[in-house]
Amino acid sequence: MKILVINSGSSSIKYKLFGMPAQKLQVKGAIEHIGEPRSKIKDHYTGLKEILQRSSSVHVVGHRVVHGAEEFRKPVVINNAVIAKIRQAAALAPLHNPANLVGILAAKKLLPGVKQVAVFDTAFHQSIPEYAYIYGLPYKYYTNYGIRKYGFHGTSHHYVAHEAASRLKKPLSRLKIITCHLGNGCSITAIDKGRSVDTSMGFTPLEGLIMGTRCGDIDPALVTYLMRKFKMSTHQIDDLLNKKSGLKGISGISNDMRVLQKRYNRNKRVRLAIDIFAYRARKYIASYIGIMDGADAIVFTAGIGEHQGSIRSRIWRRGGYSYLKKKPKVMVIPTDEELMIARQTYELVK
Ligand code: ADP
Repeated sequence: MKILVINSGSSSIKYKLFGMPAQKLQVKGAIEHIGEPRSKIKDHYTGLKEILQRSSSVHVVGHRVVHGAEEFRKPVVINNAVIAKIRQAAALAPLHNPANLVGILAAKKLLPGVKQVAVFDTAFHQSIPEYAYIYGLPYKYYTNYGIRKYGFHGTSHHYVAHEAASRLKKPLSRLKIITCHLGNGCSITAIDKGRSVDTSMGFTPLEGLIMGTRCGDIDPALVTYLMRKFKMSTHQIDDLLNKKSGLKGISGISNDMRVLQKRYNRNKRVRLAIDIFAYRARKYIASYIGIMDGADAIVFTAGIGEHQGSIRSRIWRRGGYSYLKKKPKVMVIPTDEELMIARQTYELVK
């Protein structure tokens, strides 16, 4: 069975074609600059048409969808009711879900009769208990408006936890694993017996760790303070916290860890940015060891997690965690969200 996995963004479509169940990658690529002034790809429909020319005989399509709200705990076969619910969840992910939907609608049009499956980034975290996902706000904000922690990068955390279990030769259902997805966006998840029990991102991907350009955890009162003091609009606040903060804002140089790492010894603010990054990650790991009462493995993945050993060792200091009876095994596992989507799609339709 050939499964085409599609990750449709606002101006790009990334894709991989897998032969299942062998999990053989047959074609991969990306169409970029969709709809931009000088691009010959006017829209997602044209982009997908080109992808289908490169990928012969697609039997099923698996779509990455960012937000499934509380509706979707598992992958689903897409029908009109599912489309309506993804559209509803767009209120919670206005930048992502509409772009994912455009990809779904284009695929439906171009491949009539071919099953389409949606795999949600938030689904893996739906197992987080209520006491961990409810914020300390009046409860009606949850019941009336869905304000709670959702968590993101779910497919990636799930995938690397699976791979870790297979490397450890133990069932995931008997392990406590902490997965650290450290890319441009960064999140850490506590996985107890195969279920996500807490994760650092929240209602949006802004909460938690210091990221390339996002601030992560701050005192929420800072938002109203900044608005008053500098007469900032909601748009300006959004821009400040999401695009001008994090590694970029602290260092004043770059959001790219490769650039910063080279200057660690030469530039005080670069050093500070990296130290804050590592400290925050270390703090989350320790708190997740605390809530799970130990950890069998700590897994690093994504750009920084996979490739930057010096950052990993700043987070996971050798000889640290001396209070633990059994030290976790530290592992580096490349993430493959598309393969996880193909696996889950295959499981659903086979
Ligand atoms: P995204 O989250 O956008 O998918 P990545 O997972 O590639 O991005 O992560 C981007 C971060 O990872 C950057 O800070 C970059 O410096 C770092 N990174 C990515 N690839 C490499 C690499 N091959 N070697 C070192 N660092 C890398």
